[in-house]
Amino acid sequence: MLDVIIIGSGPAGFTAAIYAARANLRPLIIASSVEVGGELMNTTEVENFPGFPEAIMGPDLMAKMQQQAERFGAEVVYDDAAELDLHGAVKRVTLGSGRVEETRSLIFATGSAYRKLNIPREDELSGHGLSWCATCDGFFFREKEIAVVGGGDSAMEEATFLTKFASKVYLIHRRDEFRASKIMQRRAFDNAKIEVIWNSEVAELKGQGQLSGVVLRDLVTRDTRELALDGLFIAIGNDPRTHLIHGKLDLTSQGTIAVDGRSSRTSVPGIFAAGDVIDPTYRQAVTAAASGTVAALDAEHYLATLDDVFPTLVDAATTASPEEKP
Ligand code: NAP
Repeated sequence: MLDVIIIGSGPAGFTAAIYAARANLRPLIIASSVEVGGELMNTTEVENFPGFPEAIMGPDLMAKMQQQAERFGAEVVYDDAAELDLHGAVKRVTLGSGRVEETRSLIFATGSAYRKLNIPREDELSGHGLSWCATCDGFFFREKEIAVVGGGDSAMEEATFLTKFASKVYLIHRRDEFRASKIMQRRAFDNAKIEVIWNSEVAELKGQGQLSGVVLRDLVTRDTRELALDGLFIAIGNDPRTHLIHGKLDLTSQGTIAVDGRSSRTSVPGIFAAGDVIDPTYRQAVTAAASGTVAALDAEHYLATLDDVFPTLVDAATTASPEEKP
């Protein structure tokens, strides 16, 4: 039996792994079968992670975090957690492959998923001119006219990055001011290839098999108009990835996993949560990393006191496999 399983491989998951591994807890990281490294894998230059004064590319930062965790004995599995049994002292995680792992504690660091516009044909045109990842797909839009939807840091970053390829980038926002940080806004405003379309939403996607444009609705006048486009990037934020634990762990009104105060303790003993999945507010790589630290320390403390929490179950589990005693 394992001491700690960590689900998620973003800054929260890998930082939790570094701390847990250094505490000799031999963590197993379930890193996902497709999205290893979390959201920073879709980011270009990270300029605000301390220690990298010249900036670092998102994927490079994640590779370094993984190396650091593995150096201390963390094991990474490239699979998804498909099912969880969180009752009792022994938690069971069934992976996509069918493999079942047992653990005495579990850290949830599943991050968040891209938000969709929730308009017709979004799934159909995804990958056919419609994208959620500028770093992945920007290259396909050389000398094309494209648009980005959103008004936060992600939208500013994506729009600015996409001007390396596109001839024109419209930035479509539903209000008349951005919520992005001033420095990111300034970069977008100063870029001659970016044109902001304020107070507007995408009402319809156009194109047969490939996106050819959108219908925009002006939210002040309610007028609609068509805008021809080769590509559309959605950057309207993320929702916490909690589908695995619905009905198993308490959630907050904002949809994040509920934790006890500043700790990572969830509503079930032995289950901890860290990073974007508990954070509706700050959602930075550095705050996620800090949150991963808290979760590893909480898990370590929990394991040290486990005998008091579940004396009978722990006895039964350890009697069944004495060689697995910590
Ligand atoms: P965000 O800050 O939540 O912004 C989402 C934007 O999308 C908002 O402008 C919002 O409009 C708009 N929006 C939301 N739902 C919409 C919908 N259904 N239709 C149209 N527009 C919609 O998300 P984010 O930009 O992804 O940033 C998330 C976090 O990551 C933030 O804390 C941000 O600072 C951080 N981040 C940092 C960096 C960096 O520092 N390099 C880069 C990227 C992200 P309203 O403004 O009207 O609500």
